[in-house]
Amino acid sequence: MEDFYREGRKRFKVLMDGDKPIGGKWNFDKQNRKPPQDALDPPPALWFEPDPITQAVIDQVKAQDVGYGAIEPFRWGVTRQQALTVLNYFVSQRLPTFGPYQDAMITGEETLWHSLISPYLNLGPLQPMEVIEAAQKAYFDQELGLNSVEGFIRQVMGWREYIRGVYHVMDDEYAQKNWFNHTEPLPSFYWDSSKTDLNCLHQTLAQVERTGYAHHIQRLMILGNFALIVGVSPQAIDAWFQAAFVDAYDWVMLPNVIGMGQFADGGILASKPMRLQLTMSIK
Ligand SMILES: Cc1cc2nc3c(=O)[nH]c(=O)nc-3n(C[C@H](O)[C@H](O)[C@H](O)COP(=O)(O)OP(=O)(O)OC[C@H]3O[C@@H](n4cnc5c(N)ncnc54)[C@H](O)[C@@H]3O)c2cc1C
Repeated sequence: MEDFYREGRKRFKVLMDGDKPIGGKWNFDKQNRKPPQDALDPPPALWFEPDPITQAVIDQVKAQDVGYGAIEPFRWGVTRQQALTVLNYFVSQRLPTFGPYQDAMITGEETLWHSLISPYLNLGPLQPMEVIEAAQKAYFDQELGLNSVEGFIRQVMGWREYIRGVYHVMDDEYAQKNWFNHTEPLPSFYWDSSKTDLNCLHQTLAQVERTGYAHHIQRLMILGNFALIVGVSPQAIDAWFQAAFVDAYDWVMLPNVIGMGQFADGGILASKPMRLQLTMSIK
């Protein structure tokens, strides 16, 4: 990912000073990854009231027997304008502190300083490059810390694009990979958070039921990691993620779950041949 990301920074001239990265380094992670503290006070998430079309869809869904998750309140944006409002809110209120706590988890803090833009990027109301440019502009105009701005741009220009490349380079069998031969069924509490007393799982699963969202560390370290250590079939946990999340798409879910979360691809996601193949296909 690192090689791929640096190529992107150079090619699109993002946070560059000639052919060198602004600040002299590609990565400021040493200033990030701060341990969570009880006294953290992130700005509240920005949500919307449903418009009449959204309300009509909510009513239609309520009439079906969906059987999982809270249908109301539904508070995601549904228009380009709302998606832009979320982006602008993130850049002004959350981006300044995004870096230090991007890997933190705190009970009761569901979104911390994360952007909540993945559904808008994946469905189309936001374009990746405009998101990157908005963050870069804030670095220059508001003199934000490079650790936060670079850390965020790395997520979109690095991780998101890399994952998309991985999906397109892999063959159809990628979805069936099972390196550890894990065969346990998915615990039933993934479909009903009230059925587990394990607090971190209970909290995160209840949040997903209410919002269809969990931030990256919750997905990786709690929801994915538990499935990995109890030997759940990678295909079973992937099917659950695909059903439960508001930003789910095959191209982004599969490498994240099968590769990053479950190591079911045996390390292909991070291997040297994969890096070479991706770099070649992009050039
Ligand atoms: C098991 C697992 C499943 C995941 N499933 C999905 C999914 O179905 N859809 C999805 O969009 N993301 C998925 N991700 C990646 C990441 O967790 C989400 O993109 C992120 O949590 C969305 O929240 P945010 O917009 O607040 O992100 P932020 O933390 O604010 O990050 C900004 C943006 O960076 C991008 N990004 C960051 N990390 C990744 C990544 N690993 N892969 C792709 N994009 C990334 C996303 O577009 C995200 O919106 C998954 C990660 C894991 C570990």
